[in-house]
Amino acid sequence: MGYELRNEELNEMLAQLKKEYLIYAPKYFKGGGRFSDTDSVRYGEVSTADEIVFDKKAEYSFKEVLLPISQTLFYFTEDEVKEADAPKKGAIVFLRSCDLHGVKRLDEMYLNNGPSDHYYKRLRENVIFVLMGCEKSFDSCFCVDMGTNISDNYDMSIDRCENGYQLDCKSPKFEEALKKYAVREKKVTSAAVTETKTRVNIPANLSYQIANASLWREYDSRCINCGRCNFVCPTCTCFTMQDIFYTDNGRAGERRRVWASCMVDGYTDVAGGGNYRSKNGDRMRFKVLHKVLDYKERNGYHMCVGCGRCDDICPEYISFSNCINKLENGMKEVLANE
Ligand code: SF4
Ligand code: SF4
Repeated sequence: MGYELRNEELNEMLAQLKKEYLIYAPKYFKGGGRFSDTDSVRYGEVSTADEIVFDKKAEYSFKEVLLPISQTLFYFTEDEVKEADAPKKGAIVFLRSCDLHGVKRLDEMYLNNGPSDHYYKRLRENVIFVLMGCEKSFDSCFCVDMGTNISDNYDMSIDRCENGYQLDCKSPKFEEALKKYAVREKKVTSAAVTETKTRVNIPANLSYQIANASLWREYDSRCINCGRCNFVCPTCTCFTMQDIFYTDNGRAGERRRVWASCMVDGYTDVAGGGNYRSKNGDRMRFKVLHKVLDYKERNGYHMCVGCGRCDDICPEYISFSNCINKLENGMKEVLANE
């Protein structure tokens, strides 16, 4: 069922929901931009609809709600281990269609890839997703080519309209609240883009032979292995473990898992001083092929959702979408050299 709410009533509804949930949405962080005196748009807790940024893309994704950057798993002493408490409140996340498709990838990795991940599952079970309609695409988006521009597996959707906001609701538990605060009921279809300025072409004959193409060597010197492209990505899921000791004797402390990046030094270090991908171009190759080749072979759809954030964030102006578009010529090169 769809509803129209004025700003004031939506704020009242959010205030009501805040008693039970933490509400996360893209919002401005004043002075938080990468250049001096600039703001950034990132995910943060919001209390009112006015704080939600609808007309800009969040530099980072919603991912840290489900996968905290640093998450304590348990505390230990010599004698016992105590699991870290789960958050007391659930979470409501406002996100766009590409990111909602990203949730599917995270679920695949943490819930269906062998035994489910306990810490992910206990957070995930209490998260509500509100789809933010996309009236237009941003410069670096390529969601249409990745098939992620439309989503219908949301709990609620929200779009701006002349008198405030229009929401569609698929979750019975919010119907009552919406009925209470709505000025009227109406049919609502959330906005979705059907074309993007950035386009990508993943060649149909893409195979692992592409690993021998010369295109990867460009990134040996251009990439500075900062890992930003991984950290902004809604579908990157890697983490590493850290034990933090509270005492000198190492007998009390906590274990945390923290985000890791396949582009950063140390990721492929192994015992004996080995390192599987020491060249930055090889790391780029691994990342790109994971996003558009091997994940699909296993799961039937690409890992990349085309959000374009990695293009936006790279300090070396390395474009992931351009790299995808080089794969066709790369395949021609390797096949000709066979
Ligand atoms: S953001 Fe750019 S420079 Fe940094 S690791 Fe990724 S591709 Fe390399
Ligand atoms: S690889 Fe880049 S474009 Fe694809 S989902 Fe990750 S950040 Fe978005």
